[in-house]
Amino acid sequence: MEVVKTIKKVRELVDTARKAGKTIGFVPTMGALHAGHMSLINNAVNRCDFVIVSIFVNPTQFAPSEDFDQYPRDLEADSAKCKQAGVDVIFAPDADQMYPCENVSWVNVEKVTANLCGLSRPTFFRGVATVCTKLFNIVRPDVAFFGQKDAQQAIVIKRMVQDLNMPLTIEVCPTVREKDGLALSSRNQYLSQEQRKEALLINKALKNCESMIQFGERNCKTLINKIHEILDQGKQVDIDYIKIVDIETVEDIEQIAQKALIAVAAKVGNTRLIDNIMIDLTE
Ligand code: AMP
Repeated sequence: MEVVKTIKKVRELVDTARKAGKTIGFVPTMGALHAGHMSLINNAVNRCDFVIVSIFVNPTQFAPSEDFDQYPRDLEADSAKCKQAGVDVIFAPDADQMYPCENVSWVNVEKVTANLCGLSRPTFFRGVATVCTKLFNIVRPDVAFFGQKDAQQAIVIKRMVQDLNMPLTIEVCPTVREKDGLALSSRNQYLSQEQRKEALLINKALKNCESMIQFGERNCKTLINKIHEILDQGKQVDIDYIKIVDIETVEDIEQIAQKALIAVAAKVGNTRLIDNIMIDLTE
């Protein structure tokens, strides 16, 4: 496995693999790799002949008040995990490599970014869509792997690839959780023991919501109120949003008909966490 820092080098390696007839799999990450990331990486290794993992804490998706400086970084541990998983190349550029001068060209995905995290983090998806476009142009993968944990991000990237005719397939992999239900996140490292207990309320509320739906509840207001009630049990839980949306348009819905995305964002202490469940009544 090679760890490369320059665009030139990663392009050379991918070109050689492509000329040898290999399919190229790509997993973009911000590092601090955990089992959630590893499930995407394992999927890529199983499905593709040549796998690149990018590790880049992308400054353009953080607002000035957010945790860009504190975001966990551990390239050595990440490299060991990738090597063991059978990754071929880690692309770990510095910010200067990705943004050598002031960036004035942005990819703005409209509508599907207008709700959920796009409301509370107004420049977030512009940063994500732009960096993913740059990374796709650098790596030119056949398949890129994203996690359902960041459900809106997966919707936005899929839509961008479709709208802009980008020549790759987006594969979305299920959310990996701790045994007790907490969705794995690099930001879980920030939580104290007490906060971690309270963070569990998010998954508890979502699972409760899922069973209410199984028992026939279809009214989104009722479901949201119940999630609210459960999250309110946490003294350090500060709700950002609880929403039930259409899985394609990301617009709020009032009644659950067939498919829906139930999404929660909350700060636990100073740590912003997100989680979601997909409902599919057609199954
Ligand atoms: P990040 O490093 O947070 O930017 O995440 C990189 C990729 O890993 C994204 O596609 C995430 O959706 C995915 N990911 C993060 N956490 C999980 C998880 N718990 N389960 C599955 N995928 C995840």
